[in-house]
Amino acid sequence: MSEKPKVSIVKKGFPLATPEIEAMVRKAVELAGGLAGRFRKGGHVAIKPNLFAPYPPPISVDRRVIASVVRLVREAGASRVTVIEGVSVGTLMKRVNPELSSSGAQRGFSTAAVMKMLGVTKAVEEAGGEVLGVEDAEKVTVDIKGGMALHRVAYPKIVLDADYFINIPAMKTHTMTMVTLGIKNLQGLLDEKGRYFSHRDDLDQHMVDINKIRLPDFTVLDGLIALEGMGAGEGGNAVEMGVIMASRDPVALDCIASQCMGIENPLVVGTTRIANHDGLGCGNPFLIEVVGDSIEQVRKKLTLPVNYTQPLESIVTGVYPNIDLYIGGACPTCWLMTAMVEAILSKVPERFSLIVGIDPKIPPRFATDLRHTIFLGECALAAGGDLREIRNEMQLRGIDRFLGGCPPYEQALVKLEDILIGMGHLSEQELIHKALEHRKRFFDGYKTYDSTWEPQIELV
Ligand code: SF4
Repeated sequence: MSEKPKVSIVKKGFPLATPEIEAMVRKAVELAGGLAGRFRKGGHVAIKPNLFAPYPPPISVDRRVIASVVRLVREAGASRVTVIEGVSVGTLMKRVNPELSSSGAQRGFSTAAVMKMLGVTKAVEEAGGEVLGVEDAEKVTVDIKGGMALHRVAYPKIVLDADYFINIPAMKTHTMTMVTLGIKNLQGLLDEKGRYFSHRDDLDQHMVDINKIRLPDFTVLDGLIALEGMGAGEGGNAVEMGVIMASRDPVALDCIASQCMGIENPLVVGTTRIANHDGLGCGNPFLIEVVGDSIEQVRKKLTLPVNYTQPLESIVTGVYPNIDLYIGGACPTCWLMTAMVEAILSKVPERFSLIVGIDPKIPPRFATDLRHTIFLGECALAAGGDLREIRNEMQLRGIDRFLGGCPPYEQALVKLEDILIGMGHLSEQELIHKALEHRKRFFDGYKTYDSTWEPQIELV
C-alpha cells in the first residue's frame, strides 16, 4: 500500500522573533520529509515565494521564511538558489507608484523594486541565494501536457532547468479563487499578459494547468500572519495564525491549509478540487497524514470574500443609486469586475449607465449622456444592434468610455481611473494618497510583528 501524503503543521504563539521563525520552518520541513538527498549535491534550486505587491506580510510572504528555506536548501547541498517571483497585477500599488507619477508607463513597481523594498533581496543574499524578477528571466514557450484551459505559455527557463523546485505561498483569502495557497501561487511565474488575462471564470483551471508545467517538489506555507476578507491584496485584513506548514504534495498542503482556515470541505476550493481531479496530488483530507500540530489546534474561521458568503448579484445589481446597470450574458468574472467598477463610480456625484455582457437589454434611451455611458468587457464591446450604434456614435465624437479586455481586469480599472481624472472627478494625488494609506496600514501593521523591518523604498 502506498504511503499517505504528509502535511506538517507547526504552530507557535506570538511574538515570533527571527530564530523562532527559522526553527518553525526547519521543523515543518523535517516533519514533511526533509530536503536532504532530494536533489543532487551542487544542484540548482528554484524557489517561488508569494511577493504579491509592495506590501509586507500578510500580503507577501515573510522574508525570514524565505531566507530560512534558502538556508535549508544550501545545507542540503545546493550550490545555487534562485528566488524567482513576478509581482501581482491586481493591486492599487501595482497601478500607482507614489514615488513617481501615477501616469502611463511609470505606474506601479517592478518585482526587483518590490523584493528590495520588502527586504527580501537582502535576506536572500545573506542566506546564500539570489533573486530574480520574472520580467527579467529568460522565457521559453511551453506546451502544457494535459492543459485544459491553458495550453501554451511563456515560462521562466530557470524554473524548468532547476534540479529542485520549492513553492512558498502565503495563507490568504482571494476574491476570485476563495483562497490562495500553493496551487494559485505559481501564477506569478507567468508574464504580465499571461496573468492579466487568466482572471476569467476558468481561473481555477488555469492555475492547475500552470502546475502541470512543473509541479513543485516541496511546498512551505507561510501562515504566520494570514489574510482574510477581500484578499489577496489591500482589501484584506491580517489574522494571527502563527503557523508554518510543509508538504511534498502541493494539493494535500492546500487541502489541509484550507481546513486550517475554517473551510470544512476543502473541495469547495476550485484549485484543490481540480488539481485533485487532474491527478496533481491528494485533495481528500481522509487520505492525508497530518504531522506535528493538528488542524484543530490551529484552525481559525477566516472571513471569506463577500462574494463567497452571499450571492454575487447582491453586490452588483440594485446597489448604487447613481448607476444604471445593464448587464446580460456576462460570466461571473465580469460580474465581479462590475462590482469593482461600481464601487469606484459610486463615489462620483454624477449618474452613469454601465453596460456589461454580450446581451444586455437596453432601453430606447439611456438616462445619461454618452460621456456617462461606460462599456465594460470585450463582450459589451462586441454586442450588436443598438449598442453598436451607440459605440459608433461615441467613436465619432471621440468619447472613449470603453473598458476592454476579457476579462476586463486591472487594466480596465486603470483606464476608468484615467477617465475619471479626465472628467475632473479624481486626481492623481487622490490615487497616490489612497495608495499611501494602504501602505501605511500594512507597513505599520507588520512593524508590530517585526520591529527590525524597515522598508527600502527607492525610485526605480
Ligand atoms: S468579456 Fe465576456 S467572456 Fe470575457 S469575462 Fe466578460 S463576460 Fe466573460
